[in-house]
Amino acid sequence: MSSQWIFLSGEFVTKQEASISVYDHGFLYGDGVFEGIRAYEGNIFKLDEHLNRLYDSAKSVMLEIPYSKEELEEIIAETIRKNELESAYIRVVVSRGIGDLGLNPVSCSKPRLVVIAEALSLFSKELYERGVRLASVASRRNRPDVLPPQVKSLNYLNNILVKMEANQAGVDEALMLNDQGYVTEGSADNVFIVKNGKIYTPPVYLGALEGITRNAIIDIADELGYQIMEQPFTRHDVYVADEVFLTGTAAEVIAAVEVDRRIIGDGKPGTITNHLLSEFRKVTTKDGHKVYPSGEKVQAG
Ligand code: PMP
Repeated sequence: MSSQWIFLSGEFVTKQEASISVYDHGFLYGDGVFEGIRAYEGNIFKLDEHLNRLYDSAKSVMLEIPYSKEELEEIIAETIRKNELESAYIRVVVSRGIGDLGLNPVSCSKPRLVVIAEALSLFSKELYERGVRLASVASRRNRPDVLPPQVKSLNYLNNILVKMEANQAGVDEALMLNDQGYVTEGSADNVFIVKNGKIYTPPVYLGALEGITRNAIIDIADELGYQIMEQPFTRHDVYVADEVFLTGTAAEVIAAVEVDRRIIGDGKPGTITNHLLSEFRKVTTKDGHKVYPSGEKVQAG
């Protein structure tokens, strides 16, 4: 393939050329916001929802994105086309920009926008068939009144630390609790449990990102006639659930079959989890912002 093109503050540059100043406050302080988005066969899934979340995150931290939503939509689609992709993982980053060494963003002249589109490296089929293992970790989720998980900021240390803790405990993913012991989410995914045919996920105010996949699954489950509730629950409820699954842009819907060494259900991905995954995959290629509006596909070359 020809070189990978990155959109960096107004122009396309090659991956090798795409660099940011060490004085950018995104680098110095994690001062910025981002989104992880996915395109399925030329459809950017839930692009409006992702852009709304990006602009809300930016508003919350008083960061002005130097493009309108419509312009950014077009930049994202163009980045996918420029890289001759149909299915892609897309990363949109807006950093505070170049400033001085002080914390105060007043010194930052202009926010920087980066858009990366890459070929998807999917979770393996085996992982969906086997399910993942979780461990609840000692580090708690950021309190919403301290650093709101709703703001998808470049400060992801809380998430990185719990992922490391989980990996060191020998499992795939962390189960994060809030400071009161209620389940919040994984390091980069939302959590659901199924008990007696009903589906539960924690309300986001407990300390979770309002995942776009989470919301899509709530809608799908509802349409399928499942009872689905946003309700606080504890580790105990997870241990005794019939099914546990995680949702996220990368993970889609993936079963968790072991939590803190307790086997969930019969240790295999559950029926409702599998049902939701297959229904989710039906909508991902249909609903969405078209990358190639006239239906033309990628040119070979
Ligand atoms: N929680 C966190 C902390 C995340 O980073 C992500 C990934 N964006 C999610 C949940 C899942 O959100 P989404 O479904 O929008 O990808």
